[in-house]
Amino acid sequence: MFVPNGDFFRPSSLDEFIGFKDVVDNLKVFINSAKKRRSHLDHVFLVGPPGTGKTSLARLIAREMDANFIAINAPAISKPADLLSTLTNLKHGDILFIDEFHRLPRSVEEVLMVAMEDFVVDYVVESGPYGQSIRIPLVPFTVVAATTRPALVSNPLRSRFGITLKLSLYDENTLKQIVMQAANKLGVFITDEAGKIIAACSRGTPRIALNLLKRIVDFAVVGNTKIIDQELVNKSLVKLGIHKTGLHEVDIKFLNALWEHFGGGPAGINAIASLLGEEPSTLEDIIEPFLLQKGLVVRTPRGRVLTDKGKEILLEVQGNM
Ligand code: ADP
Repeated sequence: MFVPNGDFFRPSSLDEFIGFKDVVDNLKVFINSAKKRRSHLDHVFLVGPPGTGKTSLARLIAREMDANFIAINAPAISKPADLLSTLTNLKHGDILFIDEFHRLPRSVEEVLMVAMEDFVVDYVVESGPYGQSIRIPLVPFTVVAATTRPALVSNPLRSRFGITLKLSLYDENTLKQIVMQAANKLGVFITDEAGKIIAACSRGTPRIALNLLKRIVDFAVVGNTKIIDQELVNKSLVKLGIHKTGLHEVDIKFLNALWEHFGGGPAGINAIASLLGEEPSTLEDIIEPFLLQKGLVVRTPRGRVLTDKGKEILLEVQGNM
């Protein structure tokens, strides 16, 4: 049986990228203008939670610009020399995608800023007081940087980006469309109601929606079911430990910690993180945004507080466990 890999669901054109119409429409204008001017595209800063389409948009930019797509991960570039060979090998108009951009080391930042602004790199041949550097010219190229934490990127570096595109968690209607499009690509039949439930249980994140769809297809295949309907989805959700309110195990643990250990809060993120054995950044980037979006938790200057709605839903979930 055909097993889709990570790239299978990626939109193959900007029109297949569902939602964030304003972002996509603006991007189309910037791309068309650059193409008409026969110029490279200005540098693009992509912001959004994990799994919301940053890599997909970066790939689409390369495709629409008819440019090569070179992807690197910021933490893997530990020193300027690591970046140098990538930069000097770029061809005119290439898209250099740098993921997890907020994790770029400071020493590399300096090199990248000059490269982005002036399309040159200064290569240090000898360090020390009599050190020498040679200036290597580069061809014009486009950096597309993706980050979940824009506040950690220094202002000077950020100011090198002419285009900023912001994604956030998706609403359930848009997620449902993404699920239906993916089911169509997979060639499986899914009812409208089933698509709706999957969307509601995807924490506002396309990647989670698509993974959930794949797992439900597994249950359908093994159970020799041809149609993905409400009944199959509900049964699969129970087996996957996802509550019908859309809360995943991580959400329930977070809410429970806030309630049981901190009397509903306020509680500092570090205290919650150490209790759950997670990194504070994981809570802030991955778990909290959905709980905030749903109004189950609020952030106050003194820490996180469980709302009445959060308490209610926690009791409902625990009653069902
Ligand atoms: P990120 O880089 O932000 O972590 P990705 O671009 O890797 O997210 O997206 C995760 C998955 O969700 C991919 O399979 C992608 O195709 C799909 N996806 C994300 N956003 C959309 C969208 N707006 N429309 C259709 N598919 C999407």
